[in-house]
Amino acid sequence: MIKDMFGTNRLKINLHLHTTQSDGHKTPEEAAAIYREAGYDIIAITDHWKYRESGAIGGLRTLSGAEYNIGGGNGAEGVFHILALGCSREPHIPREAGPQAIIDAINGCGGMAVLAHPAWSLNTVEQTAGLEGIGATEIYNTVSDAGESSRPYSGDFVDASACRGRLYPLIADDDTHYYNGEDETASYIMLACGPQATDAELLEAIRRKAFYATQGPEIHLLREGNRVTVKCSPAVRISFFSNAVWARGRCFRGSGLTEGSCEVQPFETFIRAEVTDADGRRAWSNTMDLRQ
Ligand SMILES: [Zn+2]
Ligand SMILES: [Zn+2]
Repeated sequence: MIKDMFGTNRLKINLHLHTTQSDGHKTPEEAAAIYREAGYDIIAITDHWKYRESGAIGGLRTLSGAEYNIGGGNGAEGVFHILALGCSREPHIPREAGPQAIIDAINGCGGMAVLAHPAWSLNTVEQTAGLEGIGATEIYNTVSDAGESSRPYSGDFVDASACRGRLYPLIADDDTHYYNGEDETASYIMLACGPQATDAELLEAIRRKAFYATQGPEIHLLREGNRVTVKCSPAVRISFFSNAVWARGRCFRGSGLTEGSCEVQPFETFIRAEVTDADGRRAWSNTMDLRQ
């Protein structure tokens, strides 16, 4: 646990990784040791179709998890990978289930259904428009850029979804498979929660977006009237994203930037921000609802 620039306690969490229980290259014990040594407070082991209940491995807390993937490997046929996080019991899901049945089963067991790597799966907003009960989505997924098909970033999907009123909590995680120095301990969330929080309290904090997603930099998005401000650790780039298609003054470049702000227009319904530090590491805020 660390304190952020405002003195708030934050838990460092990777919510998506694989082990030898499915197609990961490390055992659960080896994976837990790698993340514990990297300063993580919690991991979720999310093997394909292999539910793992909450507990601890080698002193590192684990949140219950699994990844239910359907549709094979052809994006033209509708691929969905859905994480089950924090279920209190196993959601027994038949292999022939569709995406809505998977989401319903996860929610029915008290868990959170996370739409994993929509960019990697070539998911579209048309595909997800009819799905109810998605608790969060990944905006960044490390493994997709670690020798895979180089689509780790789901910002376009996230913004198109927000245009339709779906402001999902935005998670970054590793989806670790290889543990080869490229796909482990890189992308995570920093959740504002005490170390004694129950699984249900962790999920509740994710649902109310009490976290930022990052590869290292700190990012906070604040609003005062029509002015939205990013406060961050030293960055070389600060960018804002909203439903404004053309907007000047939404990207700041320099060195040692720790703040950037912009005025939002009356027609803007959401806004989010990203920062990049001098080492190329990125951080992503959650999407802020400007309609409130
Ligand atoms: Zn997946
Ligand atoms: Zn995965």
